Amino acid sequence: MSGPVTYDDTPPTEEGARPHPVPEVEVTAAREATVGALTVRRALPRRGRRAVGAWCFADLMGPAAVTEDAGIDVGPHPHIGLQTVTWLISGESLHRDSLGSEQVIRPGQLNLMTAGNGVAHSEEATGRYRGDLHGVQLWIAQPESSRHGAPAFEHHAELPSVESPAAVATVLVGEFAGAASPARHDTALVGVDLVLRQGTDEWPASPDFEYAVVVVDGTVSVDGTAIDAGQLGYLGRGRDTIRIDRTGSARALLIGGTPLEEPILMWWNFVARTRDEIDDAYAAWQSRSDRFGTVASPLERIPAPAPMWAPSR
Ligand code: MN
Repeated sequence: MSGPVTYDDTPPTEEGARPHPVPEVEVTAAREATVGALTVRRALPRRGRRAVGAWCFADLMGPAAVTEDAGIDVGPHPHIGLQTVTWLISGESLHRDSLGSEQVIRPGQLNLMTAGNGVAHSEEATGRYRGDLHGVQLWIAQPESSRHGAPAFEHHAELPSVESPAAVATVLVGEFAGAASPARHDTALVGVDLVLRQGTDEWPASPDFEYAVVVVDGTVSVDGTAIDAGQLGYLGRGRDTIRIDRTGSARALLIGGTPLEEPILMWWNFVARTRDEIDDAYAAWQSRSDRFGTVASPLERIPAPAPMWAPSR
């Protein structure tokens, strides 16, 4: 059947003037989990919300007391098919990986590790810092074009920021409000740290991106929906701007990107597409194959759990 074109097919407004249908904000609570020595609040993935753009994992770590000799204490473990983004609110932590990287990270700095076909790393005490440790770790699913490629590690001591009267927005990855992060990204996405005082900001957004706000401290409100610390507010697609209100100070991450084109399969520390890929990575880690290399860490190597579909369980 053909014609006529109805309002539902395309609204009779001029291109560029057409309002995007703004989706409702969906709020999901974090789940408590234990990572190394720390209790974390896992905001992503959650039942019903597997990813936001290519962002497929978000842990809020601490605040917790660490010492010179006891930090996050996550021993060597492998990753495939993802990038880890580590961002601290307070404290210091030491990253070591199988590429030979050894990097202390501090607030305002970005550690970005690309796993590709395989990398291993540890997260440790620094040997000199004592105090509170508070931060976030996020994962970005790699696209087909890079997920089988070489691992890599980047440390960015300086990142661009954008200021408004009541906010400082630091761009971790991607481009935001005219500022672009130098960090590598393999798909169109953005990650921004928002330090907010009481007030309202309206930030430019890309209608092609889906977005979410992950609140680290305080409470923010989008379209009248409150999002509290530890919660993820999914904002959907189709927004030209994102308006964030708050009645007090708050800290939040804004993450977004073009939705994943294909379903991902996540198991333990692996992001893949098929069970066979996960089985191969599991076997390679358990057999200490060269695929993941070795990490010069004093901490114990973490054994992989057998995949839940393994027949011999
Ligand atoms: Mn890791």
